[in-house]
Amino acid sequence: MDFNDTPEEAEFRAEARAFLEQHLEPKGAKPLRQRISGEEFMKQAKAWQKIKAENGFAQITWPKEIGGRGGTPMQQVIWNQEEGKFDAPTGPFTIGLGMCVPTVIAFGSDEHKNRYVRPALTGDEIWCQLFSEPAAGSDVAGVKTRAVKDGEDWVINGQKVWTTGAHFSDYGIVLTRTDPKQPKHKGLTMFLVNMKAPGVEVRPIHQASGGREFNEVYFTDVRIPDSDRLGEVGAGWKVALVTLMNERLAVGGSPGPDWNEIMDYARKAGTLGDAAFREKLADWYVAAQGYKLTKFRSQTALSRGETPGPENSIGKIITANQLQDICNEAIEMQGHYGLMVDEDTMPADALFQRSFMWAPGLRIAGGTDEILKNIIAERVLGLPQDVRVDKSVPFDELKQG
Ligand SMILES: Cc1cc2nc3c(=O)[nH]c(=O)nc-3n(C[C@H](O)[C@H](O)[C@H](O)COP(=O)(O)OP(=O)(O)OC[C@H]3O[C@@H](n4cnc5c(N)ncnc54)[C@H](O)[C@@H]3O)c2cc1C
Repeated sequence: MDFNDTPEEAEFRAEARAFLEQHLEPKGAKPLRQRISGEEFMKQAKAWQKIKAENGFAQITWPKEIGGRGGTPMQQVIWNQEEGKFDAPTGPFTIGLGMCVPTVIAFGSDEHKNRYVRPALTGDEIWCQLFSEPAAGSDVAGVKTRAVKDGEDWVINGQKVWTTGAHFSDYGIVLTRTDPKQPKHKGLTMFLVNMKAPGVEVRPIHQASGGREFNEVYFTDVRIPDSDRLGEVGAGWKVALVTLMNERLAVGGSPGPDWNEIMDYARKAGTLGDAAFREKLADWYVAAQGYKLTKFRSQTALSRGETPGPENSIGKIITANQLQDICNEAIEMQGHYGLMVDEDTMPADALFQRSFMWAPGLRIAGGTDEILKNIIAERVLGLPQDVRVDKSVPFDELKQG
């Protein structure tokens, strides 16, 4: 494990840092998202995305021919670390640039790449991922949304759910079932869909936190030309795996208070001397240090041109659970006041309350705790596979709940 940047990495870090200092403010007590309206945040996010694209920082590892920097995965890690120190409005593009557009690049035609990549990079067009359904989440190969061929078009009917950003997206990638006679992983096909097409209806989901990040999306006789198919008919699972592999990289760290912040808070609240609290604090510190060193190990692999393995699934299990525990503890410390989310009167601008409501979502998005533990069990520890009784049964013969 190597803790230090190579001279080239240090040079890139300095360049990235200077660029960020020129354009952004360092993180303050209250994040930008809380200080301005949703509309203004989107305006600033689009502007920041354009500046990054114009200066070769939008997608570091993408080839220069399609608007990237042609840089290394390690440079992307360094950029993410440095950008993370600033109050950068990045959220709306994470799914598009991190997952959907890489899938279009891998499976789309030259026309698709020429048409869609650049506007996504500059923030002019936003993408969403239409995979999950009411009965297909962890087991996403169980999607029921049907695509039926009609002349040169496909006609799509069905319902997606938890679609982040569908309400402000221009395009999406949608996983559909084209052949229910095949076993569930084999009868799937992926398409690129215009979110403004007739028959696409986006219904917002209102969250406990007051936020409105995701949606239900209904498809009623939506026509998609065959030319907007991504990959072969029936090969949608192969295409989805590319998106999901990128998802594991895009959904990672947990933005929110850590052991340091709760220690600071406990000091101010006068509870730092409490023995039970100190024991928890020690556990959080040890787990956080372990994760930090695991991350260094992955970064060393990247820096040497190697690909980090499935052991990285441990990251979100540690950070998301710890975020939930830490926020829970801080809210308990605040007694009855812990129930209040008012940013103007609560300690730390109600940071613990806000993060507490977001933490369970983080434990689900991009693979639930149990699914990530399965990956570690099967692919890191070499334990027997999860039972998959429906693997070779035709989809339309499966018992449906
Ligand atoms: C913040 C957020 C954003 C999201 N954004 C999107 C998006 O943009 N697009 C999209 O398509 N989806 C999105 N999702 C949906 C997400 O992918 C699913 O919620 C997730 O895959 C889990 O599926 P589910 O909710 O149907 O739960 P289920 O899969 O029904 O799981 C229910 C419970 O059963 C457990 N479980 C399931 N299978 C197993 C197993 N084999 N072994 C052990 N335990 C198991 C799970 O761990 C969980 O505890 C988002 C979710 C969240 C929280």
